[in-house]
This record gives sequence, C-alpha cells and structure tokens, in this order.
Amino acid sequence: MKKFYVTTPIYYPNDIPHIGHAYTTIAADILTRWHRLMGEEVFFLTGTDEHGKKIETAAVQNNKEPKEFVDSLIPKFKEAWEKLNIKYDRFIRTTEDAHKEMVRYMYEQSWEKGDIYKGFYEGLYCTGCEAYYQEKELSEGCCPIHKTKVEHLKEESYFFKLSAYRDRLLEHFEKKKDFVRPESRYNEILYRIKEGLNDFSISRNSFKWGIELPFDKEHIAYVWFDALTNYLSGVDYLAAKEQKYWPADLHLVGKDIIWFHSVIWPAMLMSAGIPLPKKIFAHGWWTFNKEKISKSRGKVINVDELISIAGVDAARYFLFAETTFGQDGDFSTEALLRRRDSDLANELGNLVSRALTMCEKYCAGKTPLVSNVDTEALVIKQAALNTVKKTGKCMEEIDFSGALNTVWLFIKLLNQYIEKTAPWTLAKNNEKEKLEAVIYTVLEGIRLVAVLLSPFIPETAEKIMNQLGQDLKAAHLFIETAKWGCLQPGTFVKKGAILFPKDPKIKDG
Ligand SMILES: [Zn+2]
Repeated sequence: MKKFYVTTPIYYPNDIPHIGHAYTTIAADILTRWHRLMGEEVFFLTGTDEHGKKIETAAVQNNKEPKEFVDSLIPKFKEAWEKLNIKYDRFIRTTEDAHKEMVRYMYEQSWEKGDIYKGFYEGLYCTGCEAYYQEKELSEGCCPIHKTKVEHLKEESYFFKLSAYRDRLLEHFEKKKDFVRPESRYNEILYRIKEGLNDFSISRNSFKWGIELPFDKEHIAYVWFDALTNYLSGVDYLAAKEQKYWPADLHLVGKDIIWFHSVIWPAMLMSAGIPLPKKIFAHGWWTFNKEKISKSRGKVINVDELISIAGVDAARYFLFAETTFGQDGDFSTEALLRRRDSDLANELGNLVSRALTMCEKYCAGKTPLVSNVDTEALVIKQAALNTVKKTGKCMEEIDFSGALNTVWLFIKLLNQYIEKTAPWTLAKNNEKEKLEAVIYTVLEGIRLVAVLLSPFIPETAEKIMNQLGQDLKAAHLFIETAKWGCLQPGTFVKKGAILFPKDPKIKDG
C-alpha cells in the first residue's frame, strides 16, 4: 500500500493560533484527506516547539515552571484545529521524552562523525527571536521584527559543519529537481548553496530550558536541531523496527523557514545517515487588506475570527481558492464573503438545491433510472471524468487553486446543462425519459463534485452526500467510486437546509 507522510512546522505555543498557522495546517489536512481518498496510508503530523529562552522568560513572568507553562498553552492549539475540522494523526510536543531521546541521538551521530566542534558565538541577540543579528540587519539599533533593543552576547557554543555538506547538497539538488517547490524557491536555495555555506551554532549555555547535549551537560540543544528532529520522533523513528512512514513525503512550511528545511535539515540527516524527505513545499504569506500581518500592529486574524466570518468551510475554501499555493495572498472579510456568495452559495449551493428540488418534484424524490442517454448527457459524463482526472493531477502537484478551479468549471457546466435542457419544460411536455436522464446526470455530477471537494470542505461534502442518500465514508475508496454511474437508481434523496445561507440568521434557525 502506498503511504503518504505529511508534516506542518511545529508552532511556538505562546502564539495565538492565527491565519498563518491555520493555512499550513489546513493544507496538510486537505492533502491527508485527498491521499486517504486515493486509498493510501497517510500520516499527518503537527505539534508545538516548546523549548527556548522565550518560553523560559514567559514562564517566569507567569510564575510557572516552563513545563507547567507550556502545558497550559497547548489546548488552544488543539481546540483551534478541532474547530477548523483538521484531523491530524499525531500532535507532537518537543517536551516529550521520546523526542528528547531522538534529538540526543542526532547530536551523537554528528558528534561521532566529527561534524560538531566547539567555538564561540558572539553577536547582537534578540530574546524575542532567539536569534543573533548582524549590525546591518537592525533597524535603528533594534530588532527588525520586535523593535526592541538587542543585547551583545558572547557565549561558548557548539557548531555544526554545514560548510562540509555543500557538495553533497548540490548533488542532491541536481538529482532531485523537485526537492523544493515552488520552482522559484528551488532556484533561490540552489543559488544560495552555490554561494557557500556557513557553519551554524547548535547549542546554548546561557539558559536552561532545553534538551541537554549528550556529550556536554552544560549545553542545551539550540532551536533547529531540536525543532526539525520532531519529524523523526513524530513517527517514532528510533523505536520503530521498520520505517513505515519515513522518509516524509512532504514538509509543508512557510517561506520564511524554507532555508532551514531545505538546507540545514538535509545536512543534519546526511550527517546522521538518515534518508532525506522527498519534498519541501514553501507557501506564501497572507496580507490583511494589503498590509503585512503583524502582531505589533494588531492585524493578526486569529482562528476564531477567521471562522466567525462565514463558517469553517467558507474559510477553508477561501484560503485555497483565492491564491495559488506558494504565492502570497490578500485576506479581507469582503473578499471572503464575495467568494462565499458567488462560488459557494450561488454556484454550488444553488446547483444542489435545484437538483434536489427537481428530483423531489419530478421523480418523487427517487434517483431515476436512465433508460436512454442522449448526446448532451454524454458530454457531461465525459466532462465529469476529465474533471476527476485533472483534479487528481493538480493535487499531485499541490496546486490547490488549480484543483478547485477545475471542479468549479464542472459545477458551472452542470448549471448550464440545467438551463439548456430546461427540465421544467420537459415536465410540462411530458417528456419523461428525457427528463429523468437530465436529473440523473445532474445528481451523479453532484455526487462526484461532493467527493472531489470533500478534502477542502468536508462538512459541506458530507451534507451533499447525505442529501443524495449517499455515505461519504463509503466513497473512501475513491478509485472505485470516481467513475460515472455509481449513484443507484431508486435511491431516495432528501433535500436539506441551504448550504451557504447569505444571511447567517437562516443558518442559526
Ligand atoms: Zn526580535
């Protein structure tokens, strides 16, 4: 059985789950649902990155031990993912013992290989970023992100010999042209590797909240060696007798951390003798009314706000229809409502409502038997099969908006088909055979639409399937149901509530 292992970055637990976190995590959920439809064995990992000075400091401010403090922060992430209908397989926390063991293993392997050496790290440090800055990167002497004063620090640190991996990384990039997506990111990273690689600091001894190094108890693991390793501990790499999921098929990341995932992480894995992930995909950022989303200026759209505008499925749909995955997008309430009204309510919602109404009115609420298929119905059938194929191709390429566009072209075609065949006239003229063929064709088209959209808008897809008298879970083996004619004649349909009411009061009632 084919497997698919997808990950999100692990998030800082002291953040409020917002649109940025939601974007990556819903993307992983969509791919998970899609690959399950394809009959693959899927593992979806997300979680939280819980060590570091920032957490240690925040814990002190809250009068708590660091572990107690992070424990109190985790539920809001899990709740956010539940509200967004995200079904992950594991939520990993870097404070878990098995993770710590995996991190120590990674240090040991690189240490034994001679890829780690001791030196001094000196620079201008921002606690908020947990990062050093160069003079030229500062804005008026302050951290460019936090706008707070940086401190001059010099500390003993272990370093990883990233410079030694330049040639092997180049070789890998040459061999695996799709290792990093989109292509523009691949080119950018390749160029930077060619320019040369600097060794980087992998330990700290100026604070305590972290994982002790196996070869020096005075030092703790520093950010990336700790965080990136979660992708291995998340699938119990050390404990597993045979690797069922590793190497990961896809690491989904924001464009700001693509360097760490496509250069540092592969070098760490090479050093430890572990196979590399198959693909890293960097998505873009959301602006809010064309302005950069920033915490300091109060323009963060948190998950609750996102859902409150038009519900979960409208939000999930908007994020992946509005912009090409990999590029930046602009978020606004108006744009979301516009998509909800035009695409979801007018095109999809109306199609389902009309089809079910006609089936109840002209066929006594039963899926009709088709005895005679005319040319027009055959055109729809062929378009449906093309839609299935093309959507699958888009999903393989992680082109979400391409997949949605493809399905929507078919939705539009079904609406046009109803207009053109005018079932109400056929009914008036008593053309029973033709009328039933039209209604069957539309209902079967809607069934395929619901299955194709189920990874994106799962709740709506389930409602549609129920209205058709179908069980979405039975569509699980998509390979078997992604063909024309699965809707059994004689099945009772049942028209439900409006799918995307424009007035939220209707929804509540
Ligand atoms: Zn900062």
